[in-house]
Amino acid sequence: MSDTVKYLLDETRLPKDWYNIVADLPRPPEPVLHPGTLQPVGPQDLEPLFPTALIQQEVSAERTIEIPEPVREVYRQWRPSPLYRAGRLERALDTPARIYYKYEGVSPAGSHKPNTAVAQAFYNKEAGVKRLTTETGAGQWGSALAFAGAVFGLDVRVFMVKVSFEQKPYRKALMEAWGAECVASPSTETNAGRHILAEHPNSLGSLGIAISEAVEVAAQDADTKYSLGSVLNHVLLHQTVIGQEAMAQLEMADDYPDIIVGCTGGGSNFAGITFPFIGAGLRGGPKPRVIACEPTACPSLTRGRYAYDFGDTGHLTPLVKMHTLGSTFVPPGFHAGGLRYHGMAPLVSLLQELGLIESRALTQNSCFEAGIKFARTEGVLPAPEANHAVCGTIDEALRCKAEGIGRTILFNLCGHGHFDMQAYIDYRSGKLADYAYDEAELRAALAGLPKVAAE
Ligand SMILES: *Cc1c(COP(=O)(O)O)cnc(C)c1O
Repeated sequence: MSDTVKYLLDETRLPKDWYNIVADLPRPPEPVLHPGTLQPVGPQDLEPLFPTALIQQEVSAERTIEIPEPVREVYRQWRPSPLYRAGRLERALDTPARIYYKYEGVSPAGSHKPNTAVAQAFYNKEAGVKRLTTETGAGQWGSALAFAGAVFGLDVRVFMVKVSFEQKPYRKALMEAWGAECVASPSTETNAGRHILAEHPNSLGSLGIAISEAVEVAAQDADTKYSLGSVLNHVLLHQTVIGQEAMAQLEMADDYPDIIVGCTGGGSNFAGITFPFIGAGLRGGPKPRVIACEPTACPSLTRGRYAYDFGDTGHLTPLVKMHTLGSTFVPPGFHAGGLRYHGMAPLVSLLQELGLIESRALTQNSCFEAGIKFARTEGVLPAPEANHAVCGTIDEALRCKAEGIGRTILFNLCGHGHFDMQAYIDYRSGKLADYAYDEAELRAALAGLPKVAAE
C-alpha cells in the first residue's frame, strides 16, 4: 500500500443523527443532584443555565437524536473530517498493526470542540438567548464557542484560567477575532472570583473556579445562558458524529477496529469516537477494546473515586456521580491544559464501572515523545492532549509487534498543536516535569467530597 491513505466521505454520508449510548446501556446513569437539597434535579432547576432543547438531550434515553439542518449546514464546512491510515508511522514502528486516525484538527478552531459548540449556539439562538458565558482552560473551548457565537450571532464571554490567559495570548487573540470577550479568571466581576481573590490575591485560577464565575453570571441574567465544552451528556452526544463517520470510513477501508484509543480530559472527544462502536458492541456487534488515556498529573479515571461531586470549586453546580479527584483539586500547571479537570464525564465514568472501557495514565514526557514521533512520520503536530492518544496507540502497536499480531487500531487525533508551541519548546529544552501522586496526597484531596446519603 502507499504510505498514507485518506478516507473521505461524501457529504451525503454526514450523520443525520447523534447517537445516545444511554439507550443501549444495561443500567441508566445515576441522577444529577441539586447542590442545596441533594435531591435529584428536575429540568426546571437547570433552566436558568441551559435552553430546554439541551436539557431534554441531557436526560434523554432515545437512541438517536436528529441533528438540525442548520447545524449540519455548519458541520459541512469541515465534516466529514478525514480518516487516515498512518502508514509511515506503522513502518517506523515496524508493527504488524494497522493504525488509523480520525483527524479533528481540520475544524476552524483546530479541534473537535466546534462539534458541540455549533450545536449549543444553535439551540440557544433558537431559544432567544442573547449571550453565552463559559470557561476555558487551555483556550480551545473558548475559541470553539467564540467561532460558534460568530456563526449564530450570539455574544460570548469567556472566563479563561489566569495561568493560561497569561501563557497563551494567541488563544485570547483568536477568541477576540471571532468577536468574543475573554476575561482572566479569577476576576473581580463575580462573587466567586472576588471571594477567591480576597483569600488568594495571586491565584492562577483553575477550571473549577472559572466554571463558578461563568455559571454565576448566567444564573443572574435572563438573556444569558451557560455553555460547557465537555463532561455533560449532551456534549458527549454531539461529539458522536466523530465515531459514526469513522465507522463509515472504516467500512470503505473494509476494516473494523480491534482497539480504539482516545485521550480524556472531561471525556467528550473520547466518547465521540468510541460510543458508536461500544453501542454497536452492546447491540450484539463486535466488541473492540477501548482505552482511555489520561495524564498521570490529573488521573481521575485511574486513581479518582467514583462518587458524587460538584462540577466546580465554588459549589454552584449540581452534583454528578463521576470519577473525581475532589472539586478542590488544583492540578499542577502541566501543559495538557485541556486535560486538567478534576472530574470525568458521568457517562464515561459509568462505562468504566460497567467494565466496558479500560483506562491508563501516561506521563507528559512520554506523550510529547510520541507526539514528535507522530509529527516526523505523519506530518501533523498533535495538540498536547492528543499526544496522550498517540502515546497509548504507539504502546498498543508495539505490543502487537511483540505478540506478532496484526490488530487494527483506531485513535482520535482530536486537535493540532499550533497554539501550543511553548509546550513543545519546554519539552525540547527538558523543562517538563513528570508528576505522580502518592496515595496520601490523593486521600487528602478526596477528603472534602460531599456526603451524599444515596451512596
Ligand atoms: C478540550 C480538549 C480535550 C479535552 O477534552 P475532552 O472533553 O476530554 O475531549 C482534548 N483535546 C483537545 C484538542 C481539546 O481541545
